[in-house]
Amino acid sequence: MPPCVIIFRSNLWPSDALLPVLNCDLHCHSTASDGLLPAADVVHRAAKNGVDRLALTDHDDLCGLSAARLAADEVGIAFTNGVEVSIEWEGLQIHILGLAFEADDAALNAGLATIRSGRVERAQRMSVDLEKIGIRGSFEGAMRFAENPSLISRAHFARYLVESGICKDMRSVFESYLIPGRPGYVDHRWATLSDSVGWILGAGGIAAVAHPGRYKLNNREMRRFLSEFKDLGGQAIEVMSGSHSQENVGTFGRLANEYGFLASRGSDFHGPGESYVDLGKLPPLPDGLKPVWDAF
Ligand code: AMP
Ligand code: MN
Ligand code: MN
Ligand code: MN
Repeated sequence: MPPCVIIFRSNLWPSDALLPVLNCDLHCHSTASDGLLPAADVVHRAAKNGVDRLALTDHDDLCGLSAARLAADEVGIAFTNGVEVSIEWEGLQIHILGLAFEADDAALNAGLATIRSGRVERAQRMSVDLEKIGIRGSFEGAMRFAENPSLISRAHFARYLVESGICKDMRSVFESYLIPGRPGYVDHRWATLSDSVGWILGAGGIAAVAHPGRYKLNNREMRRFLSEFKDLGGQAIEVMSGSHSQENVGTFGRLANEYGFLASRGSDFHGPGESYVDLGKLPPLPDGLKPVWDAF
């Protein structure tokens, strides 16, 4: 393991006070889903940025993990198997991270395959919807960006809308298109919360709520969601996330301790020039939280 900065902590967990703060980034994407870099390049970039432990967490697919692990072994950083599972909870699309599971687990692989199987048909329906407002060829256009066609996603459509000059960047795509109530959005049945947590736990892994600050849930709904997640065996939530505001970090740090969740840290890096936060560049977890990587 490469040398890392040692910061001595004075916090609520006295037993951690002399442990070094590891640079762990447990959320990122490769071309196995909607990232821009191949899995090995993601690992090389993470190592260059000083990451000590990386989890690759492609959407609904494990096919990048073996190349990533090989690259991590070569460059000498620790690697954790990861996946970001798309689920639906009370009509909302929510993401559950699986961490440190056995990648050859049959039920997990079969479950993820069922999620992937609906994506191509959904993409065709998205394309038909965009066609109605005069945007032509978006299925083929999005597919050109999808190295893994079974993982065709809204991010690939967004890249096509930017490439064709309809939107200036990814953020403006998701303001006007591809979200509920806007052109190009198509309802889809993802996995259930119970399925996702069951598959991850069944494969020996840890389930973590991805970027909880991104969901349109009020305080009462968020608490109901977190209670349900915990009752199903969910153990962690992302506190430090590339898509969290400082306020989100405070809120979810407090909720992590209140519910007894482990805390995770992940950039959600998709690619250079597209993601706000690069691999390993988030601030460390706030003091007083239990890092999820201590449980690996
Ligand atoms: P899908 O899994 O096909 O529903 O696509 C979801 C993906 O679209 C996410 O994983 C992000 O990569 C991307 N995405 C969704 N909302 C936004 C947003 N507001 N800004 C940028 N990317 C987004
Ligand atoms: Mn994505
Ligand atoms: Mn996500
Ligand atoms: Mn993600």
